[in-house]
Amino acid sequence: MLKVSGAAVAATSILGLNACVSEAKNAPGGSGAKKKVLVIGAHPDDPETGAGGTMMMLRKMGHDVTSVYFTRGERGIKGTELDEAARIRTAEAIEACKIMDVKPLFMTQIDGDSQINAERYQEMHDLINEQKPDVVITHWPIDSHRDHVNCSALVLDAWQKLGEPFELYFFEVCAGSQTRHFFPTDFVDITPVRDLKVKATFCHKSQRPEAWYEEEHGLMDEFRGMQSGVKYGEAFVRFHRSKASGSLLDIKAE
Ligand SMILES: [Zn+2]
Repeated sequence: MLKVSGAAVAATSILGLNACVSEAKNAPGGSGAKKKVLVIGAHPDDPETGAGGTMMMLRKMGHDVTSVYFTRGERGIKGTELDEAARIRTAEAIEACKIMDVKPLFMTQIDGDSQINAERYQEMHDLINEQKPDVVITHWPIDSHRDHVNCSALVLDAWQKLGEPFELYFFEVCAGSQTRHFFPTDFVDITPVRDLKVKATFCHKSQRPEAWYEEEHGLMDEFRGMQSGVKYGEAFVRFHRSKASGSLLDIKAE
């Protein structure tokens, strides 16, 4: 029988993170150049819950990290007009980004009504062309929420049409109920920043995280940690590039 040792291997290969966090003092510069990382989520709180710990670990390494919000969560507050909900949720996302020490960036799609058409393809291409990321982390495309699926599809299209110019990873949110059929290739030990991840997520007060964090993402943080031999973890699927090899963030290999 084939012996699967994925977890043990993954624990040392996580975006180059585990091996390199201790070298944070050397970055930027040091053993690895500063990289630009975009985490693109459909709604305020998606980047935080799916990759908040990883964003903070990357910041500790000195990388440039931007949390991109595809929509402003316009339909996320019951009984509130779209504009008002967008204003509230934008402020919450900005607060969360302050805690994570990352830059917020807002796109122009509308929550619950995100579109895939020529104009929207172009918008994602333009954003990525402008930002010139080394790494992009976005939603896994098999998901029960259309905005998550659409966000992922537009990023994937930009990546392919632009000639695969960056490393592409997918994150998970509300595993089982939203993200489905997700089998990680990479794990990140977020134990040192897990309290801050919770704090950043709890900036999204309008989403009442006290009602779901522990049983959704709290469990995921623990489960992905358990799988990779640490206390708290985040998990990713890495899309292997066809036109290049190696990971831009695999600093120990440089
Ligand atoms: Zn979402």
